[in-house]
Amino acid sequence: MKFRNKALAIVALAALSTSLLSACSRNGNENTGEASESKTPATASASPSSTNEASGQPQASSLASADPVTLNFFYHDTKFDITGDSPILKKAAEATNVTLNNVAPAGGETAQAWNLMLASGEIADILAYSTAELNAIASQGALTPLDDLIDQYAPNIKQFLTDHPDIRKSITAADGKIYVIPFVSDGKAQEGWFIRKDWLDKLNLPVPTTVDEYYTTLKAFKEQDPNGNGKADEIPFFARNNVTGPYMLLPLWDAFRGANGVDFRIKDGKVSFGPAEEAYKTAMTAIASWYKEGLIDMEIFTRGNKARDELFANNTGGSLHDWFASTSNFNTTAADWVAGFDLQPIAPPASVSGQAIETTARSPLTTGRGWSISAKTKDPVVAMKYFDYWWTEEGRRLLNFGIEGETYTMVDGKPQFTETVLKEPAVVDYLIAQTGAQIYIGGWQDYAYEQQWTNKIALAGAKLYTDNNYIAADMLLPAISFTAEEENRLKEIKPAIDTYVTETSQKWYMGGADPASGFDAYLAQLKSLGIEEVTAIYQAAYDRYLQL
Ligand code: CA
Repeated sequence: MKFRNKALAIVALAALSTSLLSACSRNGNENTGEASESKTPATASASPSSTNEASGQPQASSLASADPVTLNFFYHDTKFDITGDSPILKKAAEATNVTLNNVAPAGGETAQAWNLMLASGEIADILAYSTAELNAIASQGALTPLDDLIDQYAPNIKQFLTDHPDIRKSITAADGKIYVIPFVSDGKAQEGWFIRKDWLDKLNLPVPTTVDEYYTTLKAFKEQDPNGNGKADEIPFFARNNVTGPYMLLPLWDAFRGANGVDFRIKDGKVSFGPAEEAYKTAMTAIASWYKEGLIDMEIFTRGNKARDELFANNTGGSLHDWFASTSNFNTTAADWVAGFDLQPIAPPASVSGQAIETTARSPLTTGRGWSISAKTKDPVVAMKYFDYWWTEEGRRLLNFGIEGETYTMVDGKPQFTETVLKEPAVVDYLIAQTGAQIYIGGWQDYAYEQQWTNKIALAGAKLYTDNNYIAADMLLPAISFTAEEENRLKEIKPAIDTYVTETSQKWYMGGADPASGFDAYLAQLKSLGIEEVTAIYQAAYDRYLQL
């Protein structure tokens, strides 16, 4: 297929803002360092049965090509320089006969490197990038559709997609074809509620289980001096993320905004824009009242990323809703700052209607990354066989644990990280730098890899949420695909809506305006900004997803 260089560059530039967000955010994304329920490893029976092209018979060898082949590869990381010499890629080359040659520059901006490659017309054979951007160039004819290749040459990927139909639906582009093999995260729970257990004990309070009890608890934190310094300096509820964090209170009144910046959810089988629901008015009214009473950090919109460090170091922070692993770790770090510091995960307080639900979840496609095969690739069959290698038991272990004898050893038939790895403060960074393990290529993460170094309190918190089914997965919008036309309309209309919701909500939150009296005018403004069209686009994409 002829590659339309100019059109591609335009698509890529139009998408620049989203790719900046999605493509280079490993540091801002805690998915690799967080905990959840353990899952049984692949049922994919793990036979690396690539098909012998000549005979059509499955063969024991994992070779993707009889002769050694080098394929150009695009993989950019702002922090790590991944080359064909990265140990896991070398191991994979030994197993498959396929060597990758990374054409992306070291350092610089990911989106810029991507756009430069597209503009040059020298498209690599294998492209690892954000799924949304890959699907955008696929709609210009730049990528090979993978459906038939998966069917014929990728038995392990095929089995995975059969076993995980929701993921198959989510990676299917708007034209009904698959162009991207995704990086699939493992585990379910992501964030939860935390409270200072030592403060509860000091004030003789039980763990709050309802919104009313939670209110009473925050009030006591504010008024009864649990940090014992004689001042009412406690900050009962606070957040680290100053964009979505303040709104983690919404489910207490059955209201919703997305933790990922998309405020649509599923309600009665249809997509629903959370900030336009009646419950949002009720919730914002209550939250404004809590804020006014000093139960919420006055600086919740400005404090930002260091909130936990600051408010635990000076012993003023009481409760928050945040990621399990990194938040639990403060039981170790803050022990040096505050005697008796004890921060424990608790079940979501039941809402005004009695629902104890968690509206964040660790989506299997949370990274939004994967890899594709260029339409110009000489031998897409070899590339697909190579892709499939990463989904064999051996390939999956390589991607997750790195190199046997160096980063892990086999203990009772299971990979166990070495002491050197386990004592690293940033295990994922170490693995990537040393071996390339955990890079965002098309592969399947194994939760066992992080269970080995995750704090016990975090593991218990994640287990509490998964065992009790607090995670309201049915309410959360799955990853859905838009057509190029829909994508363009969203880029035209949605930003103004999001800005308006954010600014108005913040004003309500901090007492600058009254949500109850202003809600009708707010709805009218949303309508004039095009919320109905945006909702219709999301509904259409969701309908397509349901029909797959
Ligand atoms: Ca105090």
